[in-house]
Amino acid sequence: MTLEFSFPDYSSHPDFDNHEKILKIEDRALGLKAFIAIHSTQLGPARGGCRYWSSYANEDEALKDALRLSRGMTYKNTLAGLPHGGGKTVIMGVPGTATPTRDIMLAIGHALNELDGIYETGEDVGTSQDDFLIAREITEHVRIRDPHGDMNPYMAGDDPSPYTAHGIYCGIKAALKHKFGNDNVAGFRFAVKGLGHVSTPLCETLHRNGAELFVSDIDDKKVQYAVTNWGATPIEPDKIMSQDVDVYCPCALGGDVNPETIHFLQAKIVAGAANNQLSGPDMARQLFERGILYAPDYAINAGGVINVVMTGIPKDIVMYRVTGIYNTLLKIFQRSDKEGKDTAEIADTIVEERLAGTFQIRNADKASTIKNSA
Ligand code: NAD
Repeated sequence: MTLEFSFPDYSSHPDFDNHEKILKIEDRALGLKAFIAIHSTQLGPARGGCRYWSSYANEDEALKDALRLSRGMTYKNTLAGLPHGGGKTVIMGVPGTATPTRDIMLAIGHALNELDGIYETGEDVGTSQDDFLIAREITEHVRIRDPHGDMNPYMAGDDPSPYTAHGIYCGIKAALKHKFGNDNVAGFRFAVKGLGHVSTPLCETLHRNGAELFVSDIDDKKVQYAVTNWGATPIEPDKIMSQDVDVYCPCALGGDVNPETIHFLQAKIVAGAANNQLSGPDMARQLFERGILYAPDYAINAGGVINVVMTGIPKDIVMYRVTGIYNTLLKIFQRSDKEGKDTAEIADTIVEERLAGTFQIRNADKASTIKNSA
């Protein structure tokens, strides 16, 4: 192997946000280039998945993704009250390949050892449990759900989607409570874009509790399933956002609410699973100004990361913990009204206050240690 590690100074990069460490991984023989960005370890070891993506146009695009996604993980973990900071691994995939080779995963394993436990990772876009079984041959700093296929079915740590779905359901109830004074979903109308792993259990719960569903997916079979089983109304993907409903649930891809689409929205609430569902912070401001209540994505979709962190704990206890998303969102909504700031800004502010508070506590500890030893 010709594996090389370096910690270049990226502090002038526009997406640098006081990241603690950025490890660059290169292996010319393997054609490997990857970044591990550690945004924060203030609340505990950084956590965040490992992405393999072969469509990055250049190194800067991959670095940008690593910087942004690792920061996002700090915010998600902190707001969810988890004892972890944020990090992310981004592997620039070999053109034409969708998944990493065994040698690449071994190289990632060595890189994780280089970081000595300040960061743990696992599967994400383009990587799988099997890839991490390879990395695990040489490092313990990986998170694998079910390494031997014998996980107790009553314990958390399995597929995160049902936990994410439960969190979204709780977040939707909080939004209804705040907007309409009633958190019972019965009789409310929902437009759901994307019928995937998260939105399927979500729609089942909404339907069971009396909600009316309008759904769309690029996969007709999924739409048909929704029509047959939940009495949903099928809608073309490009029309789902403009439905006259109470709640719009973006559960497909990111960037759904953007300058071209925001004018179509008729819903009073935007609450769904997708990561980065707004194209930028200006969208959150516009939603706020139009009186549309937005449930910040990283607040409402944190059920999955809570499940991963609570691996091995009984599922019902973890689900109960996920239910806390209801109160987290209510606090964000109430503070947004009080301060006249959009909900995305309030969520970020709460995280930054928590991190600043921890920083003060840590420094106070250091100060008292110095005093006591003097
Ligand atoms: P998924 O791939 O299972 O489902 C996405 C669905 O969206 C698919 O059925 C796909 O056909 C559909 N889709 C794609 N483009 C579409 C379009 N233009 N119009 C309509 N439908 C379209 O993904 P998932 O695991 O359910 O996750 C959904 C979103 O939530 C993703 O953005 C993901 O990043 C995010 N998320 C998921 C989890 C989790 O636990 N799975 C956790 C946090 C966030």
